[in-house]
Amino acid sequence: MQFPQALETVLETLERMRDQSAQHPCASRRALEALTPIAPADGVMGGAAPLVAPKFAAPTEGASYPEGLGGPSRTGIDSAAPAKVGNAAKLSAINERVCACVNCPNLASSRTQTVFGVGHPDADLMFVGEAPGADEDAQGEPFVGRAGQLLTKIIKAMGFTREDVYIANVLKCRPDTPGSSYGNRPPTPREMQTCRPYLMEQIDIIQPKVIVALGAVAVEGLLGTRAPMRELRGQWNEFNGTPLMITYHPAYLLRNQSPSEKRKVWEDMMLVLDRLEKPISEKQRNYFL
Ligand code: SF4
Repeated sequence: MQFPQALETVLETLERMRDQSAQHPCASRRALEALTPIAPADGVMGGAAPLVAPKFAAPTEGASYPEGLGGPSRTGIDSAAPAKVGNAAKLSAINERVCACVNCPNLASSRTQTVFGVGHPDADLMFVGEAPGADEDAQGEPFVGRAGQLLTKIIKAMGFTREDVYIANVLKCRPDTPGSSYGNRPPTPREMQTCRPYLMEQIDIIQPKVIVALGAVAVEGLLGTRAPMRELRGQWNEFNGTPLMITYHPAYLLRNQSPSEKRKVWEDMMLVLDRLEKPISEKQRNYFL
């Protein structure tokens, strides 16, 4: 295939991704650097930023969402309220900065891509986890591995979809595991401190009614608190005036299949539903994850 045809194919694919996702497509620094030498000198490609920037500019105020990403099609929470379209543009602008971020040089060079966040830009409910794992690093979306599937199940049991809520992590890059592509490691305090401003901006824009911190690392990233999860979970806290519920990370439930631990998470989620003034059915009250 000739270069112009290949470029056209890549652009069409990126456009499809843009149209089907709340996030702008983004590439790792390594991928962009790998593309630069093969770009023709006539300016067709013109380096990494011009390749996508004109076609993937953030949506403007007043623009409509792609189907399924908000506005009138939003279900579950406050469905009659029009979404704040400007939030999508604001989040996209932050995502562009995150995509290019190299503030943690080791993570920037080891990541496949950044993992910004996914969901409704005007969500009432926001879940915050710790950091992308291998699956999330590969797919560019938070909570898509086994733990993510369990989180999706929890969200559905609450009566929502992933598109109704917003899901993000404290860290936007997968913590590197030098010498091994397997396994995950928790973020260091320094990494969390470095990346935290992006999460703060996301929360500031979305202004959820309730935040759920999933696991001890998320608690530390959000509140700066370190304590055993058995002491923290099930408690209401406050994050800059927003009620914050602490519960176990879904990965913990995968490691500990005890029904009583799963029930604790579900009880925490019923507290969240109550706080959101969502009716809880009898079936939900008796539900076990
Ligand atoms: S973890 Fe956050 S601060 Fe560090 S390089 Fe990635 S996006 Fe930047």
